[in-house]
Amino acid sequence: MKIAKPLSNLIDSFQRLPGIGPKTAQRLAYYLLHVPQTELDNFSEALSRVKRDTKLCGVCKNVSETDPCPICDDNNRDKTQILVVEQPLDILAFEKTGKYDGVYHVLHGAINPLDNIGPDELYIEDLIIRVKKRENSIKEVVIATNPTMEGEATAMFLVKRMKEAVPGNGKRFVITRLGRGIPTGASLEFADETTLVQAMEGRRNL
Ligand SMILES: [Zn+2]
Repeated sequence: MKIAKPLSNLIDSFQRLPGIGPKTAQRLAYYLLHVPQTELDNFSEALSRVKRDTKLCGVCKNVSETDPCPICDDNNRDKTQILVVEQPLDILAFEKTGKYDGVYHVLHGAINPLDNIGPDELYIEDLIIRVKKRENSIKEVVIATNPTMEGEATAMFLVKRMKEAVPGNGKRFVITRLGRGIPTGASLEFADETTLVQAMEGRRNL
């Protein structure tokens, strides 16, 4: 039996999403046939706006409705401390702890040669430029990439680049890495708040 074209188009779209296989894609598409049209219209409106109505913050590369984002724009945040994360979702995890009042930098991924993601595909040079520009006022750069092979490789690369770009940075600012607590191979966005706070408290110099 041939699946009606509008349905097969939708199934194809679902299948392109991470973690969704053909069976789930089919189930979701057929499920939507039972949802009221107004709800579907809201869904498709939200979908088409998600990218159109958001932008990347020019300072920290977080996804935001405004540039600079509310965190970079907040005068109560400590601009001398930059926490470097892989994904915007990691910012949410740290914000939920309520214990961090510095600013962030989002790399939008980690170095992964198997997926052809090198340093140039990430917002690494933006961080270097940011640090260089404010090297006299920055006190600490905390590297909070995930404790995975890719995250560790990214952390090592960041340290190397920062030490090249700002010679003698040790006198100006420290580079630290989150402490233990987050299981190796895990993703920060799934860490609970207590674990994140402990990892922050236990951070070590690089
Ligand atoms: Zn920002």
